[in-house]
Amino acid sequence: MTDQAAEDAPFLCESCGGPTSKKVAQVTLWSGDQLVLVEDVPVHICDKCQEQYYDEHTGEAVLQLASGGFPQEYKVRDITVPVFRLPDGVITPQSED
Ligand SMILES: [Zn+2]
Repeated sequence: MTDQAAEDAPFLCESCGGPTSKKVAQVTLWSGDQLVLVEDVPVHICDKCQEQYYDEHTGEAVLQLASGGFPQEYKVRDITVPVFRLPDGVITPQSED
């Protein structure tokens, strides 16, 4: 048995069933209260709805990085991330009742 055939088969979007393209993306994840960016992650992106999927190996590698607490040896650089808020009137406070 081999998984080669499955890997070569076109990957269809699980959300809308559309065709996907192989691309390299940046993935953002939270590590505790710190935002972490992972570069050059191979993904399948849906041509229709832009949903992103990892293949099995990539998903495992990302999980290992996260479960290892994002080891410093894999860090490329630090960046500063601007934080925004929606304009007044857009956020409707939830009723606590
Ligand atoms: Zn889709």
